[in-house]
Amino acid sequence: MSNRPVRVRFAPSPTGPLHLGGVRTALYNYLFAKKYNGVFLIRLEDTDEKRFVPGAQDYIMDALKWCGIMPTEGPGLGGNFGPYIQSERKDTYRPFAEQLVKDGHAYLAFDTPEELDAMRKQASSMGMPNWQYNNITRASMKNSLTLPADEVEKRIAAEEPYTVRMKMPRNVDIRFEDEVRGWVVVNTNNIDDKILLKPTGMPTYHLANIVDDKAMEISHVIRGEEWLPSAPLHVMLYDAFGWDLPKFAHLPLVLKPDGNGKLSKRDGDRLGFPVFPTNWTTAEGEVYSGYREKGYISGGFLNMLAFLGWNPGTTQEIFSLDELCETFTLERVSKSGAKFDPDKTKWYQQQYLRSTPNEVLAKELSEILTENYGLDRLTTVCRLMKERATFVEDIWTEGSFLLEKPTSYDEKTMRKKWKNNASSLMGEWKGVMSTLSDYSAESIEGSFKDFIISKELGIGAVLPLFRLLVTGKGMGPSMFEIASFLGKEECVERISIGLDTLAVTTSQA
Ligand code: GLU
Repeated sequence: MSNRPVRVRFAPSPTGPLHLGGVRTALYNYLFAKKYNGVFLIRLEDTDEKRFVPGAQDYIMDALKWCGIMPTEGPGLGGNFGPYIQSERKDTYRPFAEQLVKDGHAYLAFDTPEELDAMRKQASSMGMPNWQYNNITRASMKNSLTLPADEVEKRIAAEEPYTVRMKMPRNVDIRFEDEVRGWVVVNTNNIDDKILLKPTGMPTYHLANIVDDKAMEISHVIRGEEWLPSAPLHVMLYDAFGWDLPKFAHLPLVLKPDGNGKLSKRDGDRLGFPVFPTNWTTAEGEVYSGYREKGYISGGFLNMLAFLGWNPGTTQEIFSLDELCETFTLERVSKSGAKFDPDKTKWYQQQYLRSTPNEVLAKELSEILTENYGLDRLTTVCRLMKERATFVEDIWTEGSFLLEKPTSYDEKTMRKKWKNNASSLMGEWKGVMSTLSDYSAESIEGSFKDFIISKELGIGAVLPLFRLLVTGKGMGPSMFEIASFLGKEECVERISIGLDTLAVTTSQA
């Protein structure tokens, strides 16, 4: 660690919703900042006007809020380094581009889009499909390096549109140390003369990113691996300005579950799971699902994301956000792509659901139910059912029998267990139940055991019948707890109704 105060940023472009890989980048920045008592800020990189999507900014802020990883500086949040939206800083960038031109690190290019297009076509027809404006081709283009100085002046005076391009030197190795990848070396021959300032006066991502990281005193640039190819240019820009480099950490790609390629925004719900933290509605009204609306608990979602490219080096898998802040280090971020695992995401959800207090789950459940069953009863329902649920709504789907009489009876259990003596046996058990004075789960269990011993039957032959009549199901939580929760009257009534219904059903079979 350097002695510089830690200031990190999440710098999304508002070109659409935040993909879960973007949330992971935000999370790692957040964890890193917290760990070193630093600042986590958000900066909106909206210099690409063509790709701007209305609503994206609000979406991003809302998603971070849901995740509980809000930055402390950013649009609408305040901070001493604002504005935090690049389009609002537009005028600050031009002097930096001009400085680069003056110092010979950049140049003006007057080629029109039509001329560039013609050049690309010509190169393509000659078998060079990927024509680039670079340290070789620039010699045959219209720019301040090839045109006489007075013509350049004339064109500027006539307000001819131009771009400012980086003048990539020929055959120079750019080296920098990445906190995740170690030393990275890229030869400038592989990098084109990137545009830094557009004819509109708007900077491109590269220039704005560097100027702002410097202005906002960013100590560590923690971002996705897709930005690694841009890093050598960024390093050159820092050098050209004579600025110290921040530390770089490029996070591994988030891959599709089969490991075949990057998990992209376009994967939407196509692979059977959401790729967005919260629902996203397109301008056309199309809705892409999000983890929040699917019923995921944000803590579990974040815990899963933390492990997507990082591990603590121990077997512990469940971490609260505070524990993650303590444990997270860039050294334990892996280089290789991290496969997204929807099953693991569900597993985390189950773990978080189980550790949510029953009272809290009951409250949430009451909000999705139309009938008022009372919070006390719902709390017990949650206690009995949450081990078998992944989402709050499963508690109802799987456990509604605790509050409503069954309307059907599990066929498989009927086929396998409902033998000839079942009706009379259950009739007798009903008799025993009606005489019980203590209706605790323990007391019912004790009587049940005495009952099967007296009948010389095993638990596996009788318990499923009891469960079937009372709950309609073949499986579930402790039958004695269920019976105790329902109470004597309800239990006995359910057995009577079940016996009547099954008598009809089995006689028809
Ligand atoms: N604006 C870039 C993005 O959309 C940020 C890259 C960076 O963090 O430097 O991800």
